[in-house]
Amino acid sequence: MRTSEPKIGFVSLGCPKNLVDSERILTQLRAEGYGLSPSYQGADLVVVNTCGFIDAAVTESLDAIGEALADNGRVIVTGCLGVREDEIRAAHPDVLAVTGPHDYEAVMRAVHAHLPAPHDPFTSLIPPQGIKLTPRHYAYLKISEGCNHRCSFCIIPSMRGDLVSRPIGEVLSEAERLVEAGVRELLVVSQDTSAYGVDLKYRTDIVGGRPLATRLSTLAKELGRLPAWTRLHYVYPYPHVDDLLPLMAEGLILPYLDMPLQHGSERILRAMKRPAATEKVLERISHWRTICPELVLRSTFIVGFPGETEDDFDQLLAFIQEAQLDRVGCFAYSPVAGAAANALPDAVPEALKQDRLQRFMEVQAEISRDKLALQVGREMVVLIDEVQPGRIVARGPGDAPEVDGLVIIDGDWEDVGPGDFIEVQVTGYDDHDLFAEPV
Ligand code: SF4
Repeated sequence: MRTSEPKIGFVSLGCPKNLVDSERILTQLRAEGYGLSPSYQGADLVVVNTCGFIDAAVTESLDAIGEALADNGRVIVTGCLGVREDEIRAAHPDVLAVTGPHDYEAVMRAVHAHLPAPHDPFTSLIPPQGIKLTPRHYAYLKISEGCNHRCSFCIIPSMRGDLVSRPIGEVLSEAERLVEAGVRELLVVSQDTSAYGVDLKYRTDIVGGRPLATRLSTLAKELGRLPAWTRLHYVYPYPHVDDLLPLMAEGLILPYLDMPLQHGSERILRAMKRPAATEKVLERISHWRTICPELVLRSTFIVGFPGETEDDFDQLLAFIQEAQLDRVGCFAYSPVAGAAANALPDAVPEALKQDRLQRFMEVQAEISRDKLALQVGREMVVLIDEVQPGRIVARGPGDAPEVDGLVIIDGDWEDVGPGDFIEVQVTGYDDHDLFAEPV
């Protein structure tokens, strides 16, 4: 069992452009669950983002690499000096990898190769496929670390501690720089997004001369002013989530909520020690839909939690039938070393877990298909992920990257590329994806 997250030391040298690259790498590292170490000694690996603009910068970069090697020993070099790999390796043959400027994908590949990211399907903030790295036009924006809850299947709080929110000014300036660097969709993540700012008592920051509270609705409103989509993940149904719905109805943030509900039986939810009262969730969902009818809800559930009876499972099926969620992921429970749930009695046999998983997915597949069918004829703006021969692969407001469906637009396209928004009309659907044509 891992007792703490893998930690990276980071040195950023050179110009503001290099700093943008550093932030992009740091954003990705944070989202993938890496910790950052302020010292070389406390890090499992050090990334040095170098500058090679003038001789003095080359010397400074080589010195920084040497220092990191002496104090830590495991060093990945990136940035402008990276194009002169021979020179770096001549001075420092022991560096683990050298990558070039503005190539954060290559840096992340090197980090994964030498220090794999932790991945727990119940609590990871980005999907396992997400580790293949986000294209440049979307980015995960992590707004806090840690968690104040103690869900019995989870070891995040023991690994990362209680909630520590990043002040709103810091988050907004990271978001602004990401958008300046070409990001068109910000995926807000944290272990408990609804709790953002609680630890700071919603402290006010002065941002661009304006007082702004470190609070989710304020953050959402401010992110909504940027020329990029804002999509919220890991939002628990606390009462103040109601404040987000008008922002969605106004088009400031995407009408999308990723809300891990985990179960539909009160008894199991209590055993899981889940946050937020759930008895009113169905009522809340239907209220949200009256404010913002386009709302797309994604959730994840766990079947086969210790003690789950057939009656609990039936309650879960009844819950998803009534909730009519658009996108749903489901896992068969598996114990995580160190989690309190391991001590719970009445483990569900593996075969029964798999059987329930399958039954769950069958019920949900039909709901998801019906929800997609309702989209036919609708006009929407989509964000292009890829232009392939003969078709465009895009996503609509209801499709988070990696986990949800796609919008496919047939035809040969010029003058558009990844990160462009286009308007389409939905013409059809299959089990996961929508098909559309340009308006
Ligand atoms: S809310 Fe629960 S599952 Fe999520 S990080 Fe906190 S303790 Fe873990």
